[in-house]
Amino acid sequence: MPGKNVAPGGEPASVGVDCDSCEEFRQGETEADAERDWSRATDCRVLLRRHQDSAECVAREPR
Ligand SMILES: [Zn+2]
Repeated sequence: MPGKNVAPGGEPASVGVDCDSCEEFRQGETEADAERDWSRATDCRVLLRRHQDSAECVAREPR
């Protein structure tokens, strides 16, 4: 399926350094969504945002 993994901006989603913790939260949200566990999906989003607001996230560091 060409084009499926390309973002509208033209950047591949896998570009750049990603944060392991962010990845875990996103994966948890995806799994919860798949199970229609909305409260757990919301939890994951809240935890992800809280994590990104804190200093422990390495992905949001501007270079
Ligand atoms: Zn992070």
